[in-house]
Amino acid sequence: MRRPIVAANWKMHKTQDEASRFVRELLPRVGAEVAADVVIAPPFPLLPAVARALADAPHVSLAAQNVHSEASGAFTGEVSCAMLADAGCRYVIVGHSERRALFGESDAFVARKVAAVQRAGMRPILCVGETLEQREAGQTEAVLTTQLAGSLADLDEARAAELVIAYEPVWAIGTGRTATSELAQTAHALLRAQLRARLGAVAEAIRLQYGGSVRPENAKTLLGEPDIDGALVGGASLDPESFAAIVHAAA
Ligand code: PEP
Repeated sequence: MRRPIVAANWKMHKTQDEASRFVRELLPRVGAEVAADVVIAPPFPLLPAVARALADAPHVSLAAQNVHSEASGAFTGEVSCAMLADAGCRYVIVGHSERRALFGESDAFVARKVAAVQRAGMRPILCVGETLEQREAGQTEAVLTTQLAGSLADLDEARAAELVIAYEPVWAIGTGRTATSELAQTAHALLRAQLRARLGAVAEAIRLQYGGSVRPENAKTLLGEPDIDGALVGGASLDPESFAAIVHAAA
């Protein structure tokens, strides 16, 4: 069976003190025996503070929210995979819809990031999802198929089992408008079928997270679906109590 994975995407929130306090308050709520992988993705400047706070908690992993695909060079404002691995990251979120929509990231660029993260020995959390306009136009299946294939174009298939894929309908992110569990399961089943067609049996090992206004109140229902293996949580991950409740709903 796939081990559940719940990740906190803090986006552009918190200071070092707030980040350290969050971890201090989270750890007693999420004991070392928890039956889920727990991941925290703070903004870049907070990675060292969170890494220090997690020093005695190897059951909680550090992640970055983004990365550049190149190893080094003249890319002002960017960070490399080697820097993130050195900072203690085990996962990197790539292709979040905010990166795609606000910063113009293409599937081809996301694909290079996925490959770079794999080369550095970390695990990508690849985000895909349709907009409201695309859903209402009946394009969800085509959009997800194109995004998934395009974003995995440079995948190291030998390490495909380490992939995490987050289905995040754009209309559900930060809106309070959560997908129904049936709708989310349909999208997850589609993604798993695409993975199976490309990768064969390893698709059964790849964890698929749902993201989009996940809250303690709706987590259990969503995570009860057969192809929903965890959650990528934005707003509700800023509070240790609500994030811990979502972890326990998954575990
Ligand atoms: C996200 O940004 O990945 C996300 C799912 O945000 P929220 O939980 O706030 O909708």
